[in-house]
Amino acid sequence: MRKRLIVGNWKMNMLRKEAYELARGIAELVGDVSYVDIVVAPPYTSLDVVYGVISNTNIGLCAQNVFWEEAGAFTGEISPYMLIDAGCKWVIVGHSERRAVLGETDEMVKRKVAASIKAGLIPILCVGETLEQRESGKTMEVVRGQLERGLDGVELFSSDSIVIAYEPVWAIGTGRSATPYEAEEVHLFIRNVLDRVFEGIGDKIRVLYGGSVTPENIEDILSPPNIDGVLVGGASLKAESFARIVRLAGRIG
Ligand code: PEP
Repeated sequence: MRKRLIVGNWKMNMLRKEAYELARGIAELVGDVSYVDIVVAPPYTSLDVVYGVISNTNIGLCAQNVFWEEAGAFTGEISPYMLIDAGCKWVIVGHSERRAVLGETDEMVKRKVAASIKAGLIPILCVGETLEQRESGKTMEVVRGQLERGLDGVELFSSDSIVIAYEPVWAIGTGRSATPYEAEEVHLFIRNVLDRVFEGIGDKIRVLYGGSVTPENIEDILSPPNIDGVLVGGASLKAESFARIVRLAGRIG
């Protein structure tokens, strides 16, 4: 049985004081929840203040990016060990905004995933097609390629060593989420690819959906059997809406 996982991606938002307030709000509302796993991903500059608020709750700390080297002359980069030192247990890797805006490739994603797992962080690997790719019938081809290249040679300690997030690019921040049917079709496909790549444990790895998730659509989105949780952007920036998503996610299934 895969436990539901709800991740809030704060992106490049929140000064430290705001991050502190948001973390406090979330901790007060759902900090003791154990029926789903809860994770928040503040920007690097707020990891420490958020960790100070959530370290004694059930909420986990996640970074939004990582570099693959352990230490050295890599100005501006942050290693997996530094993230662990800052209290992180999780890290988002290969978000479509990083792929599109910062030129992150599958080769870079693969290195980040492997280095994170080696250090003991759990990478949340994001994959997903653009609208153009979907409309030209290439969704499965794109997702398969991102998974196969992003996981090439990666070794897991267990099925909990990694999480996949299916995030159709056309659904991120647009207010147009995928339908449960559209998402489930890809989630099932992802599970089959994982089963092949990791020989028989694809069924145990959590696969999240991301893209315009709100308290209003969370119940629909989580209704299919292969959607194990959500990666939430905009709706995670208000404690009340994120907490509602968490509570509703606990009611289903
Ligand atoms: C995201 O940041 O990964 C995301 C899905 O954003 P939003 O929920 O705002 O679409």
